[in-house]
Amino acid sequence: MKVCVIGGAGYIGSHAVLELVNDGHEVVVIDNLSTGTRDAVDEKARFYLGDITNEKQLFDIFSEETLLGRFDAVMHFAAKIVVPESVSHPLEYYHNNVEGVRIMLKTMVQHGIKNVIFSSTAAVYGDVKKDICTEDDELKPINPYGESKLASERLIHWVAQAYDMNYCIFRYFNVAGAHESLKIGLKRDNLTHIIPITVQTALKIRSSMVIFGDDYPTPDGTCIRDYIHVADLAFAHVLGMKYIVNENKSATINLGSSTGYSVKQVIDEVSQYFPVNYSIGPRREGDPAKLIASSERAKNLLGWTVKRTLKDIIKTDLDFRIKHETR
Ligand code: UDP
Repeated sequence: MKVCVIGGAGYIGSHAVLELVNDGHEVVVIDNLSTGTRDAVDEKARFYLGDITNEKQLFDIFSEETLLGRFDAVMHFAAKIVVPESVSHPLEYYHNNVEGVRIMLKTMVQHGIKNVIFSSTAAVYGDVKKDICTEDDELKPINPYGESKLASERLIHWVAQAYDMNYCIFRYFNVAGAHESLKIGLKRDNLTHIIPITVQTALKIRSSMVIFGDDYPTPDGTCIRDYIHVADLAFAHVLGMKYIVNENKSATINLGSSTGYSVKQVIDEVSQYFPVNYSIGPRREGDPAKLIASSERAKNLLGWTVKRTLKDIIKTDLDFRIKHETR
């Protein structure tokens, strides 16, 4: 298939590009390089520097590519994803994450493209009270990031209905790790997620780290999350694309492992390699105690399950950072 990957130079997008190329698809990447890098894009993919919120630019790239052959599907990874930043800059989040999706959908309609694969998030569920999240649970985001993704999900649903399109919406749980080649991974200075922060602390790139609260109603008092390796997550996109194109159907699917680990368990796992210097601090605003995906639907519809464990996630992130950040 011919696939357009918007945001294909970023952390998750570049892994999806690799899985698509390895599965034999023709891949075109559009990215504004705001967080991604050109060298993260597999050389078999065609690259355009472009911004999803620039309507004319997107239209022109789609028109140029359509002359060579229409896209079978478009994948969207071009979102802003930092929760605290979304609280301080909601206008930017709605502009990039929702207006960007509206422009992408409009451009797809103008070029007769019928299939869209969209990256959403477990943040659409909000402050979850249940042990395991299923896709039909109540959607009650508690921050602008989650709201912007839910607004996009709804926009996609209505546009797909009006213009006879298919969509696959993936709700990601906690994505981490790096590709086994160690060529691509999460390469950023202002990291906020627990696994890279713990690994950087173990590698002495940071002097110490803080556990945000150990008084949650969980066995060891720290929050529980469902961690998924980025390569497992990326491969699900290939399956999701084939599902909506071949079955001519739409679906909304959680991507997680159905297993949860606490913040302390993550630190213990990293400590198997190097000691981690940490202290206990107050809770971080907006953190639910426990977030675990039901991955039944991914298994039933796509035949997808995770292949990599928390150990693999941590080991690849560690090896990636040793290679790129300590030399
Ligand atoms: N966390 C922490 N210290 C940090 C970063 C994160 O204790 O320096 C905790 C955070 O409070 C949450 C869990 O780790 O309970 C996962 O947070 P992360 O930001 O990685 O992902 P989120 O679940 O918020 O998307």
